[in-house]
Amino acid sequence: MNSKVRVRFAPSPTGGLHLGGVRTVLFNYLFAKHHNGDFILRIEDTDQSRFVPGAEQYILDTLAWCGLTPDESPIHGGKYGPYRQSERKAIYKKYADTLIAQGNAYYAFDTAAELEEKRKIIPNFQYSRAHRMEMKNSLSLPENEVVELLKKQTPHVVRIKIPDNETIVFTDEIRGSVSFDAEAVDDKVLLKADGMPTYHLAVVVDDHLMEITHAFRGEEWLPSAPVHILLWKYLFGLDKMPKWAHLPLILKPDGNGKLSKRDGDRLGFPVFAMDWTDPNTNEKTIGFKERGFIPEAFVNLLAMLGWNDGTDKEIFTLDELIAGFSLDRVHKGGAKFDYEKAKWFNQEWIKRMDNEALALLVKPYLDASNIIVHEHDYLIKVIGLVKERCHLLPDFVLQSSFFFGAPNSIDTAAIAPKWDTQKQAFFEALIVAYNDIINKGILTQDPISLELHFKELTSAHELKSGELMLPFRIMLVGGKFGPGVFDIASAIELKDTITRIQFCLQILSTK
Ligand code: GLU
Repeated sequence: MNSKVRVRFAPSPTGGLHLGGVRTVLFNYLFAKHHNGDFILRIEDTDQSRFVPGAEQYILDTLAWCGLTPDESPIHGGKYGPYRQSERKAIYKKYADTLIAQGNAYYAFDTAAELEEKRKIIPNFQYSRAHRMEMKNSLSLPENEVVELLKKQTPHVVRIKIPDNETIVFTDEIRGSVSFDAEAVDDKVLLKADGMPTYHLAVVVDDHLMEITHAFRGEEWLPSAPVHILLWKYLFGLDKMPKWAHLPLILKPDGNGKLSKRDGDRLGFPVFAMDWTDPNTNEKTIGFKERGFIPEAFVNLLAMLGWNDGTDKEIFTLDELIAGFSLDRVHKGGAKFDYEKAKWFNQEWIKRMDNEALALLVKPYLDASNIIVHEHDYLIKVIGLVKERCHLLPDFVLQSSFFFGAPNSIDTAAIAPKWDTQKQAFFEALIVAYNDIINKGILTQDPISLELHFKELTSAHELKSGELMLPFRIMLVGGKFGPGVFDIASAIELKDTITRIQFCLQILSTK
């Protein structure tokens, strides 16, 4: 048995990755890396009817975006491969045979129509102890008939025989002791008629063959745990079983139930990691990435959905999360998702991020809005000026567009009510003064010098600079937002500043 920690994320590639799925990846990854262990990505694609083209690539892309690189996966390789269950089909049959030989599984020959018929007659029909003897299987049929059916290659599945009167108990690393009454569990199919295993058999066999030491998955898998525990007991022994942890749900903002994709659509926030277009319906679901989250922030906010380090600290790098992560600080209860808080995380990360690195992320948004950046250094400077005001990457468009050209629209209506001839005279004088500065080079055009100069001129005009700041800002920016007015004037330079003042004076004089 391997003593190295080995964990796996084992998604079925059926669509976009929900927040909860990525958090499962993250907790697996953090636990593995905290213990210098391996993080494995295994694609559980045995259900061909649910196959969705592009879904596996989407999972790989999401992990890559988050920086959670698997040590082993279908594309990273590894010595326990293949890592796609559909490519491991030949492996599973012998385990089903062992279970049958032990008497812990049986052949079932019921056709789809027969099962359908049964479901019609018996409400909430379960193929289980209560009904298995009424069905067509190797427990209910005489032995010679079973041999005959098998010889004729009659289509059949293999089902687990859930034991009578047994309480199935295991220790969950988050919840403690969990027990199930076996009677409530149905005889799940293990091997399908096409020879493909179902998830239940494949997950146990593969966790064993891949020497998985800890299996962490979403709480929604808890009802499947008894089947898995029994299979471990029958096939490999409970002492070999990985330690289980079922991670609490991520809840709707009001705490009422599991957060779903529909909640996101309804409340206008993403629930998937990245954009996902369903290839069957063409329905597009937006992702955190495309909404303008940066991966460091996304990983950070996910970690805080259900975990903390015991202090008030909320901002963690991935390395800090790895160093601090422990399962005993994962909450038992669900974690409410709060989109405003998620944006706060992103803003904190934007503030901390290097301007140069941020420029690479922001530039595509500016390009898409036809904002032309002539000088890369200028872009970096602008990013430094506005980043505190941006929650999401697209916010940089509004917060910085006026640095790259005159604003498209100017809220002169916000200036007009308090506009008078004195103010008009002041701004005319300001234009003259700025022209002088340009021509004679009499002042360095840094924000502090410009501010001092502005204040001197306001006193000379017997005005208060406070009353003039708002009109000045609106002239430069177009509205009541943006960083310091003199930072802006200094960045766009006095020539442009003059043009923008002149433009507004013209509009105001016609009002
Ligand atoms: N294949 C399951 C899924 O689609 C994984 C459950 C597990 O991790 O055991 O999420």
